[in-house]
Amino acid sequence: MERYDAIVIGGGLVGSAIGYGLARAGLTTALLDEGDVAFRASRGNFGLVWVQSKGEGAPHYQRWTRGSVDQWVPLAAELADKTGIAVGYRRAGGVHLCLGDEEFDQRRQRMERMRREAGNFGFEYRMLDQREVADLLPGTGPAVTGASWTPYDGHANPLRLLRALHRGFVDHGGGYIPNAQVVDAVPAPGEFRLVTAAGELRASKVVLAAGLGNAGLAPLFGLNAPVRPQRGQILVTERAQQLMPIPTTTVRQTEEGGMMLGDSQEDVGFDTSQKPAVMQAIARRAVLSFPWLRELQIVRAWAALRVMPPDGLPIYDQSQRFPGAFTVNCHSGVTLAGAHANVLAPMIAAGTLDPWLDLFSGKRFDVSAAA
Ligand SMILES: Cc1cc2nc3c(=O)[nH]c(=O)nc-3n(C[C@H](O)[C@H](O)[C@H](O)COP(=O)(O)OP(=O)(O)OC[C@H]3O[C@@H](n4cnc5c(N)ncnc54)[C@H](O)[C@@H]3O)c2cc1C
Repeated sequence: MERYDAIVIGGGLVGSAIGYGLARAGLTTALLDEGDVAFRASRGNFGLVWVQSKGEGAPHYQRWTRGSVDQWVPLAAELADKTGIAVGYRRAGGVHLCLGDEEFDQRRQRMERMRREAGNFGFEYRMLDQREVADLLPGTGPAVTGASWTPYDGHANPLRLLRALHRGFVDHGGGYIPNAQVVDAVPAPGEFRLVTAAGELRASKVVLAAGLGNAGLAPLFGLNAPVRPQRGQILVTERAQQLMPIPTTTVRQTEEGGMMLGDSQEDVGFDTSQKPAVMQAIARRAVLSFPWLRELQIVRAWAALRVMPPDGLPIYDQSQRFPGAFTVNCHSGVTLAGAHANVLAPMIAAGTLDPWLDLFSGKRFDVSAAA
């Protein structure tokens, strides 16, 4: 039976970022993945490294996200240097376009609330009028009444990020084990035995990073991760000349030139089918935002499931019953890759989560614990 310092369950962006950080810290680490049959948000997302809509009513999440974006710069540089894979991180600010006065007014109020909640930490934003948006993003349509802008936002190629994290993990001595669904576990403090489709494995630390799979795995380790699926659909156009200097929340241009149009938020359970009416609504909003998009052909479209905690905030915890077992979930695994690889993984390697991360504990959903 193979024995490791740490086993990370789940080879998506969350597990790979943590696995990379653990292997880089010198822990013998295995990264287990269920395989192609699994739901995999990391292979179907929009690729934003995004701050401006994160943490309204939860300023600690806004801080954590901002910290992650700051870690993105060294992480992207390190991955390029060590693995030769450029993840295409570009950070030059981003905008949320508003269609109509009501949307603009609601957005302004929301951004102002976030600025107030940020307190001394600060939150830099600007509301742009129609002309300022047109100066920043040529070709916006008359339906665009304005936008919110922050300097923190950016985007990257999420598939290359996943590949770079996997490559970096293996280069640091990590063992990637595909088709290894964890079906059972015998936990004991500091000694975990996992029963997987690829055989039994042992480790002194286990990190649950199985996305939607965490909901079922967490109770085995005395943890709580009540995540649910939320479907998002995305459309991609043929390539065009570079027209968009910065991304928006619903339209962004990839490095290769394709325009990504996104993305819906549908609570429909474990259903990854595509719905023409939703795709039409996505395309309609995109064309109202940028009428020239009408000339481009859609060449690809898909649906994928977000990993959604009940309040939308990440879940970070160590088991009290079985110390050494950690759970990690979030609905913005691209954005938080910097924090996961460079901040959270070192804490897990050291065996303790920083106390301020208690704010993200899964205990906040545990009614009996609260009572
Ligand atoms: C449409 C859409 C758009 C999005 N846009 C953005 C965006 O712009 N920016 C952003 O930051 N985030 C975005 N996200 C969210 C982001 O993609 C996710 O937060 C991230 O991919 C979650 O990664 P994960 O590793 O937790 O989950 P997943 O990618 O789902 O990976 C979980 C892995 O766990 C494995 N697994 C499950 N159960 C087991 C088991 N029992 N044993 C072993 N392995 C198991 C599976 O094989 C799977 O590979 C978007 C998501 C969607 C769906």
